[in-house]
Amino acid sequence: MNQPPLLSPETNSQSQDSCTTAINKTSPSNRKKHSGVGGRDSESIPLPAGVNRKRIYYSYCISIGAFHVAALLIFVPWFFSWIGVASLVVGTYLFGAVGIPICYHRLLTHRSFKTPKWFERVLVTIALCNGQETPARWVAWHRLHHNESDHQEDPHSPLVNFFWSHFEWLVFENKGTDKFALYKKYAKDILQDPFYMWLEKNTYMGVAIFLAHGLVIYLLSFLAAGFYYGFGMTAFQLASSIFVWGVIARVVWVWHITWSVNSLSHMFGYRNYDTDDHSRNNWFVALIASGEGWHNNHHADQSAATVQHKWWEIDVNYYIIKCFQLVGLASNIVPPMHKRKAARQAKLSGKDA
Ligand SMILES: [Zn+2]
Ligand SMILES: [Zn+2]
Repeated sequence: MNQPPLLSPETNSQSQDSCTTAINKTSPSNRKKHSGVGGRDSESIPLPAGVNRKRIYYSYCISIGAFHVAALLIFVPWFFSWIGVASLVVGTYLFGAVGIPICYHRLLTHRSFKTPKWFERVLVTIALCNGQETPARWVAWHRLHHNESDHQEDPHSPLVNFFWSHFEWLVFENKGTDKFALYKKYAKDILQDPFYMWLEKNTYMGVAIFLAHGLVIYLLSFLAAGFYYGFGMTAFQLASSIFVWGVIARVVWVWHITWSVNSLSHMFGYRNYDTDDHSRNNWFVALIASGEGWHNNHHADQSAATVQHKWWEIDVNYYIIKCFQLVGLASNIVPPMHKRKAARQAKLSGKDA
């Protein structure tokens, strides 16, 4: 199959413009800085300097392990129901897609669009229901990833190895990512919001919201099933099925979706742009991550709200953002770089005329 010609994001268009976020404010010249280890020509890199393989984060280890074991309950016939399966699918979009790629990634990290403040906080609360850390940490780690992508200080590059990029980076101590100074440096704008700062200072509240959402889903399911079937074993079984499929299995599935963007989308796929990293456009990850798998497009044009650069590179997350716009909940949607470039040129020629 023919590869599309590689375009340099900087020669094709100025990939980062005035819409660009703190990523570039913290590191104005990504490419110049990274003449050393890592980058698009490297095949492997060492672990980030702050990693200590002898120290593990037990909270991550235990919760990741426990959820994976509990998710095996989907193979027990007693917990199976089609409503349970549907709750996994719906939950993957409602909590997963809306919370992580749309809110944490495109809204908070890259400021690709704006929402009313109250709605942004609702989206952050939804994001917390995925068990993927507070907004300031998620944003700081992801901006660090963009600044150091596939170089040694990238927190989760597969150039270390696949398992490191997929989940091990969460499990082992990394002094480079586990400090408030990093969040202040890379997520200063996030911490200026009192709600997000409160979540950062009281991290147990994020965990409490996460646990509470599971309990609420269970209770609502039991009530709904109880009113329909009577408050007996059938209602108990159906509520348990929805909890196992729509909460436990969905959380694990959404973890792997997010982790696959970090791992598979930096390993396998094609490249439209000659970025200084190993980012790839991976159709499988795009399919499960509702568009995030077009990751080379994203690395080349980080501030755009869409990652769809070819007609077949379907980006469901962007369509959801457009739906928000239709009902007045999204504005200032950042267009892709070729449209920004055309708008700039039109503005310049207007001035010249
Ligand atoms: Zn990446
Ligand atoms: Zn990004």
